[in-house]
Amino acid sequence: THLAAFTRTRTTCGYCGVGCALDVLTREGEVAAVRPAADGPVNRGHACVKGRFAHGFLRSPERITEPLLRRRSGLEPVSWDEALGHIARGLRAAVTEAGPDAVAAITSARATNEENYLIQKFMRVVIGTNNVDNCSRLCHSPSAAGLTAAFGLSGGTDAFEDVERADCLLVVGANPVEAHPVVGARLLQRVLHGTRLVVVDPRAVGLAGYADVHLRPRPGTNVALFNGLANVLLTDGLVDEEFLRHRAVGLPELTAMLAGYPPDRVASITGVPADDLVAAARLYGVAERPAIVYGLGVTEHLHGTDGVRTLANLAILRGAVGTDHGFGVNPLRGQNNVQGASDMGALPDLLPGYGRVTDGVARGRAERVWGARLPDHEGLRIPRMFAAARSGALRVLWIVGEDVCATDPDTNRVIEALESCPLVISQELFLSETARHADVVLPAASWLEKDGTFVNFDRRFQRVRPALAPPGQARTDFAIVHAIAAACGADLGCPTPAEALAECGRVAPVFAGISHQRLDREGAIPWPCPDPGHPGEAKLYLDGFATPDGRARLAARPYLPPGESPDDDYPLILITGRRWAHYNSGNMTRRSGTIELAPSDHLDLHPADAARHAVRDGDTVLVESRHGQAVLPARLTEEVAPGQVFCTFHFPSSRANALTSDHADTVTSCPEYKVTAVRLRGA
Ligand code: SF4
Repeated sequence: THLAAFTRTRTTCGYCGVGCALDVLTREGEVAAVRPAADGPVNRGHACVKGRFAHGFLRSPERITEPLLRRRSGLEPVSWDEALGHIARGLRAAVTEAGPDAVAAITSARATNEENYLIQKFMRVVIGTNNVDNCSRLCHSPSAAGLTAAFGLSGGTDAFEDVERADCLLVVGANPVEAHPVVGARLLQRVLHGTRLVVVDPRAVGLAGYADVHLRPRPGTNVALFNGLANVLLTDGLVDEEFLRHRAVGLPELTAMLAGYPPDRVASITGVPADDLVAAARLYGVAERPAIVYGLGVTEHLHGTDGVRTLANLAILRGAVGTDHGFGVNPLRGQNNVQGASDMGALPDLLPGYGRVTDGVARGRAERVWGARLPDHEGLRIPRMFAAARSGALRVLWIVGEDVCATDPDTNRVIEALESCPLVISQELFLSETARHADVVLPAASWLEKDGTFVNFDRRFQRVRPALAPPGQARTDFAIVHAIAAACGADLGCPTPAEALAECGRVAPVFAGISHQRLDREGAIPWPCPDPGHPGEAKLYLDGFATPDGRARLAARPYLPPGESPDDDYPLILITGRRWAHYNSGNMTRRSGTIELAPSDHLDLHPADAARHAVRDGDTVLVESRHGQAVLPARLTEEVAPGQVFCTFHFPSSRANALTSDHADTVTSCPEYKVTAVRLRGA
């Protein structure tokens, strides 16, 4: 068929945080094909299997197409008016009887910026609470805290084009070949052309086979490892003394602490041979243009923020951040808009643009734009929302596009929270396990049915445009928030996504120069972008760090053990993560063309452990932790180290998160998904 017969819509992929630009070809209300855009600013003609082929979910017969309300007999279809009326009455009763903090919202890192902006505005202005959080709490909240503390802003330090120019890559706790395939492929190209590569990961992830050095620390020992690398940099004199003198603070304290982290001691804590540690530090230390890229293997720990800080130490010691001889510290974001959801202030302590809710100046600016008095105390983080629900303090929990029963740790406790909360609202594409526990389910639009913007992993705003209309009575999250506000008798203003982003720029000067009109013309703009004539800052801190004195902060953080360690009862360590064909809870990818590529999950198990447990490849095993059980077929592989097992959370039926604990980062409450003590039984 001639291409002219199709409608072409340029949008941004709604799966991972790479932010590939896609051309979606539609005809007669169906997606005919998705093509990676040759002029996509990040992907330049490439896309992975998810972006290209995982769109079959759009027309799945399982899509929710009308509102559902819980009756005695279960969830039953109702009109929008009835659903909205029920929600408005529930909100009003909760606020009147128990105060605004009896209401909480969990927003989605898959929803657009404008939707996240509107939700947090509704919670703060209409309800009067800061109880709004997004799923970055569960992945990169330690990045936000750690990078802000070290450098001043809550984002990666460099543009991906610059990272590609590095002559040494330190890839830590990330598996971009599977989880961020376009980035993974491009990094691999650089390595094949001579860029030196150090991989830090307990597993033999895709890039590890190409690494000059692969360090495999015991899960939960990152801080010791990073301190050990810093010790070698200092001992060998591989530091930028000029940079440290003028652009950093904290060296004396760090130097004193690092004396306790010689390679031999670090080897005994981490299991990484001292020679390998020294070799890795020297590769990074002698590089002319080193770059650090990292993922959730750094953040999802009891001391995840310390992990980010001690990793950032390496770039500061080398003067490889905010200079032209290094490409900083760059988190790979798991979800498409995890950066943007936080940028928009869908956080209990921060307003759009990262002003603190406790800071009168930042709050005053938002109050003037919104014409309302705002609450001045921090709201609840997601884990504390669940705790408040279990205790009876929370009366309404509104969950937008999150299957918390599948993705949040300690599933049994999450379900207990949902069952304890008098009104749970779920905005969803499918009847997920979370939606099944809700009292009202609202049919939502997917990323291919929306208008707005996403922010990708290197802080670029890009446009999202609807290729199709949502099915049945489904609405965009943007329209749903407006409808809930109207049912409560409130008008949130900014009737269109373009107007919402423009208003956000008045609350948050850091985004003031970014508009839909500009993005339509220019394609992508990174923040900070303070005015319409500003190109946006792809590389941060060339003119100084965004700290009060303009200097980067070194952090002296000691190694502290993880929440759980293997013992006689639970001798193995479970790591959870992602695989290439699926995305998060799998609610979209499991209903798409990609399902045939990976129809089920499995437990990766080292052959030596398999022999000890008399488990053969393909055997079904019962995995037990102190928190719950999961049943999975075993896959014998040396990708995992002896004593460690790995599975994903893509298949709610395998209940991987029934195993994980509620240990969480001491600074940000990010769960420790990467270290759970487990044991195996034949199933
Ligand atoms: Fe690109 Fe990520 Fe989408 Fe794949 S999932 S097409 S790498 S944005």
